[in-house]
Amino acid sequence: MTPSPLLTAVYQRLLAAYGEPRPRGCQDPIGTLVKTILSQNTSDVNTDRAYRALREAFPHWHQVMTAPPERLIEVIRSGGLARQKASRIQAALRTIYQTRGDFELGWLAQMPVEEARRWLVSLPGVGYKTASIVLLFCFGMPVFPVDTHVHRVTRRLGLAPPKASPEQVMRLIEAQAPPAWLYPLHLNLIRHGRAVCKAQKPRCAECPLADLCAFVRDS
Ligand code: SF4
Repeated sequence: MTPSPLLTAVYQRLLAAYGEPRPRGCQDPIGTLVKTILSQNTSDVNTDRAYRALREAFPHWHQVMTAPPERLIEVIRSGGLARQKASRIQAALRTIYQTRGDFELGWLAQMPVEEARRWLVSLPGVGYKTASIVLLFCFGMPVFPVDTHVHRVTRRLGLAPPKASPEQVMRLIEAQAPPAWLYPLHLNLIRHGRAVCKAQKPRCAECPLADLCAFVRDS
């Protein structure tokens, strides 16, 4: 499928507004997976703080997996929802270790995209967003992670129906965007969601996408 005129215009205007983010590469898929679990419902600053504390307290993933839960909760407390995240991280690490015998995920690169994503999503505590982040950022696979900003902005723009779930937005964009667009589109929609298309008060008057936007048209 070719990209719709709306998606094409949004992609190009976001590039003009925010530039083209270059993939930074990721040498550490398991670290990316754990960090993405830590990032749920918190800021980047708190995520980074909690992840640094985790790696300092437990340099090896085996130590994270076997740590007393209360100790792990204490270490990652700055990331918020520490009890829930500690339990998810340990459950995911346990499943990976039990099925693979180590914490190496490089082999995912050899799998077809959907199969790799299915495997990740089958891990406890890992949803489509987390799985897609690992596959896009670490392996350059043609997938489109949908976080809260991407979910909100795509629906406001009319790139997806108002009631589309994050997974439906993911599928809609993946079906039409050229693979090379997915990384810049994902990051630029997040930038736009943080800077302009804010959750509570979108700044439509200064938005470079306003003339394309269903939210403006319908309000
Ligand atoms: S016009 Fe308003 S609602 Fe539409 S993308 Fe821009 S800020 Fe968001």
